[in-house]
Amino acid sequence: MTPLHLPTAYFIAGILYLTMPVAVWLMLRKQHAPSNTLWCLGGLSFGLSLIFLGMRDTWPEALTYGVAIWLLVLGPLLRVNALRHELQKPIPLTWLLILSLVFIAVYGVFHGVLNNASMRFIWSSLGAAAAFGWLAFLAREVYRRDQSISARWIFMFYLALAVVLALRVPSVLLGLSEPTAMTSDPLSTLLIFMGVVTSIVGNIGFLGMFIERMNREALESAKVQARQEEATRLSDQIAQLDRRRSVGEIAASLAHELSQPLTNIYLIADRMELTLQQRQDESLNKYFADLNRNTQKAGDILGRIRTFIQSKNTLFERVELSQVITDVSALIHDLAYNESVDLQVSLPPQGLAVWADPVQLSQIFMNVLRNAIQATQGQASRRLLIRVWREGEMAHITLTDNGPGLPAEALSQVGTAFFTTKTEGLGVGLSISKSIAQQHGGSLSIGNSPSGGAVVELQLPVVD
Ligand code: ADP
Repeated sequence: MTPLHLPTAYFIAGILYLTMPVAVWLMLRKQHAPSNTLWCLGGLSFGLSLIFLGMRDTWPEALTYGVAIWLLVLGPLLRVNALRHELQKPIPLTWLLILSLVFIAVYGVFHGVLNNASMRFIWSSLGAAAAFGWLAFLAREVYRRDQSISARWIFMFYLALAVVLALRVPSVLLGLSEPTAMTSDPLSTLLIFMGVVTSIVGNIGFLGMFIERMNREALESAKVQARQEEATRLSDQIAQLDRRRSVGEIAASLAHELSQPLTNIYLIADRMELTLQQRQDESLNKYFADLNRNTQKAGDILGRIRTFIQSKNTLFERVELSQVITDVSALIHDLAYNESVDLQVSLPPQGLAVWADPVQLSQIFMNVLRNAIQATQGQASRRLLIRVWREGEMAHITLTDNGPGLPAEALSQVGTAFFTTKTEGLGVGLSISKSIAQQHGGSLSIGNSPSGGAVVELQLPVVD
């Protein structure tokens, strides 16, 4: 087998190290990431060092020993800093420069002062192995943090390169190879081979790390957008339902309240008609007929309003309570956050589902949470706790706040339509929530919690 011509091999590896990082840098330059520039500079530095090493027989010693060995360690150190930038813990460049200069100063002592080829060789091998090992270790950190497959490849190949470099030390100590980079023994051949492969894997891996990150970010922003759209849709639905229900509640109440006086008018008119008939006075008969017809008509209209309000278009489905609470928490998040309210949720670990219309269920939560946030105004620290548990066939959900609670005189009326203690209040939120809970085969009640504050308890039948 023809032995490897080392100067040519070094030259080829050097050219690879010079060209590939530049190509990667050009592809990623729009990212404006310092790590990209550092990675590229590291590659250039290492590439130059390989070319200088290959020129040992022709170029001046200062270049092919001193500068070459300095660049050999500076290259991976610059790449170390590139990965540290990726990990958001960059090292000042001056430190790296000092580290590489200390390294080359010691090398200079072995080379120029002591003229000890073995020590010089061992020192440079160990220095380069340590720098590549560090690089591998950081790539592993990136892999662990981002689950990046590309970083994993970088880790594996740089670690292998570090191991092969370090193996040169026992090999020289045991007299198995010459203490020079220019002998074509099996280890040096393996090293050149590893160097070439690592250059390819390292650069493609670095590019891959960026692409993976861009994909992750795109996925994340798509998820956030989808969540926002979902939250807006739900909040629109709730607001619409709120308005419809409020109008419905008012109309229902009006229908109920008006039916009594209307019946009275009807009865009074009837009695007057009877009295006039007894007096044999028929002059007002036409008016009584009109009066009766119109009262009847008004009664019919009220009846139709009642029927219309009672007709429901509820869409029942299996609803995980944790999901409704997550959705409503997302909707209420801004309000709770702006008002510095701490919302805690305690759910059963195995989950709990009910048979419900998710939008209407969210409407209950929104009403109750809004009330609770308003009630805690003025408290030093504002807290809401949602607890969910199962008791037999019923799911229990309590929402406790640390507001002032309900005064005794309010306790008997709270939850009936139009009862409000707020100047701007309509007093329909709780009564709507109660009727939704009843429509779902459950109940809703409000009272005071033993720890102070109000507690709303919602019970709904469980679905397995
Ligand atoms: P509104 O919020 O328009 O007043 P609601 O039906 O939602 O209508 O609430 C009715 C009343 O119940 C409120 O005005 C308030 O007096 C009382 N209330 C509701 N929730 C709470 C709470 N968490 N703490 C104290 N009082 C409450």
